[in-house]
Amino acid sequence: MKSKSASAWSAAKSEEHYGFKRWGNGHISVDEAGFVNVQPRADGRGIRIMDVVQEALGMGLSAPMVVRFQDLLRHRVIQLNEVFHKAIREEEYQGNYRGVFPIKVNQLREVVDEIIAAGKDYNYGIEAGSKPELMIALAMHEGAQRLIICNGYKDNDYIRLALIGRKLGKKIIIVVEQLAELDDIIRLSEETGVKPMIGFRAKLQTRGEGKWSSSTGDNAKFGLNTAEILFAIEKLRAAKLTSALRLVHFHIGSQVPNILTIKNAVIEATRFYCQLAKMGFPMGYLDVGGGLGIDYDGSRTNFESSMNYSMEEYARDVVSNIRDICTSSDVPVPDIVSESGRAIVAPHSLLVVEVFERINKRESLGQQHQPKEKHKIVTDLEFMLKNKGKLGRLERFHDAIQKKEEAFSLFNLGYLDLENRAAAESLFWQICEKIDLEGKKSGYQPEELHDLSTLLADQYVCNFSVFQSLLDHWALKQLFPIAPIHRLDEKPSVKAILVDITCDSDGKISSFIDLQDVKDYLTLHPLNGKPYYLGIFLTGAYQDIMGDLHNLFGRVNEVHVFLEEDEPNGFYIEEALSGSRIADVIEGVQYQQEDLCRKMKAQIDAATRKDMVKPREGVRLLELYESQMLNKTYLHIEPKNGRKKKKKP
Ligand SMILES: *Cc1c(COP(=O)(O)O)cnc(C)c1O
Repeated sequence: MKSKSASAWSAAKSEEHYGFKRWGNGHISVDEAGFVNVQPRADGRGIRIMDVVQEALGMGLSAPMVVRFQDLLRHRVIQLNEVFHKAIREEEYQGNYRGVFPIKVNQLREVVDEIIAAGKDYNYGIEAGSKPELMIALAMHEGAQRLIICNGYKDNDYIRLALIGRKLGKKIIIVVEQLAELDDIIRLSEETGVKPMIGFRAKLQTRGEGKWSSSTGDNAKFGLNTAEILFAIEKLRAAKLTSALRLVHFHIGSQVPNILTIKNAVIEATRFYCQLAKMGFPMGYLDVGGGLGIDYDGSRTNFESSMNYSMEEYARDVVSNIRDICTSSDVPVPDIVSESGRAIVAPHSLLVVEVFERINKRESLGQQHQPKEKHKIVTDLEFMLKNKGKLGRLERFHDAIQKKEEAFSLFNLGYLDLENRAAAESLFWQICEKIDLEGKKSGYQPEELHDLSTLLADQYVCNFSVFQSLLDHWALKQLFPIAPIHRLDEKPSVKAILVDITCDSDGKISSFIDLQDVKDYLTLHPLNGKPYYLGIFLTGAYQDIMGDLHNLFGRVNEVHVFLEEDEPNGFYIEEALSGSRIADVIEGVQYQQEDLCRKMKAQIDAATRKDMVKPREGVRLLELYESQMLNKTYLHIEPKNGRKKKKKP
């Protein structure tokens, strides 16, 4: 069925085209049949994402759908701990690594469960940034050696909760973010008779780079400046709590693209640590916060959606810099704490969306809508399309724009009918496309023509909400790798941007990863009437929880996948979580499902009395309304060609 030109294409070419190898970090590949495979443990055992989607469909779950690879999550926890252990061995570092997972990055129970289980042998702990997160951390945490780090703004209840943990023998460290918190900690520990473990968050001068760089520096909203640290020391001494100070903490922001920033921050923070240790505080822990990046575009650069270092290099730099400064200051080295969140969870999940429609500007007019009498403006445009004459591309582009604007003016004045206006628009875009295609051969592109390809790109309409599932793209223009998960043995030929189903012109994706800078469109496959699925990858960090209810779409379906050799496709779905139903989201904004149904019934009854609807029809209408309450919020996409009745899910 493949055409000749398509067979010159190959899955390997797609692998290169979409960069799977570069950003996939050994976890993503394309098989010969053109399907994307995920290797959760980077050991060659792959799972076809399409198989997972098919199985989920069989369970009544359709896209949009989050697919979590639990083994990949486990793999990342082990990997992070192993690289620190390796660095510690190789650098002959005398302390331990005691990482913690910041649960704000993904609080889902199955995610936290998996991370805690995977980190058992490494004494991998938890970081909390709020009361609800601490409530989770306290209950889920196990083992006397694993840390709980308490960050974020704290009220008395937050501190009381942390002190419960101390009472139970947990290594729970309250990090002081504001001077006033220390007064509360001192008072509550006196009241309860529980001795806290305390850390100071230092406001470093080292500035991050990238989108999240404002987490540090003079205007950061967290941490103690140097003078405040001196005040805090006095307070601890006055309260006879000097033995409680155990940790120095910093966090220079998420997704730090440049390793030099990390080196500098570690050096600065270790200086703080050594000074405090020399003043006689027991100390013992240095917490380097988060910031370990993900190479979203696979370019290995210090561009904001990339990182110019590996996880190994990160660990080695943290370990060796701390050692060097401590040695030169004659201070015993601390145990190292890091709070990597993004690096742990981002790779393990992806969002699968279905493209169900295409919006195209330049499709030629069908025969039946040709103008009966062509207006002169239309014949002019036809002439421009056929004859390029001696004019340059830019000049023809300007001429075409002039004609198009003339056509709109004529329409507004009543001189152009609908058919002629349609023909003029269509011809204009065809001329643009022609000019754009000619440009492929020549080298230099004037600015105006450079943007033509973007202007001409199709819009692929995808059944999902950017605001629910990809908030950082909307809010921060963060880029994620996006690619089809099937048909990769076919040549992609359509330039497209993606738009979502919210009623918001911002609900779109129009910037994409590229090795150089950012791309304005993706090259995708033409739609063929069958479901076409795209994967939005590396979305396991932050996106799940930041999403909002714009247009009341709510949570998407979700499946949790485990490797399993005994299964025919090498995996099984352990858990399937159903996305929001209409009743769920409307109750979230204070409507009662029953109340709305009652109101509808009253209106239908009234219409029946007025004979606007027949009684039997009225019953049917109410049934339709009521049954929709239990349906999902996203579009229910029917197969294009099939007039067959679909089975009810
Ligand atoms: C958000 C946050 C983290 C996690 O940062 P990542 O860059 O995702 O690793 C760690 N520590 C603190 C204090 C944070 O606020």
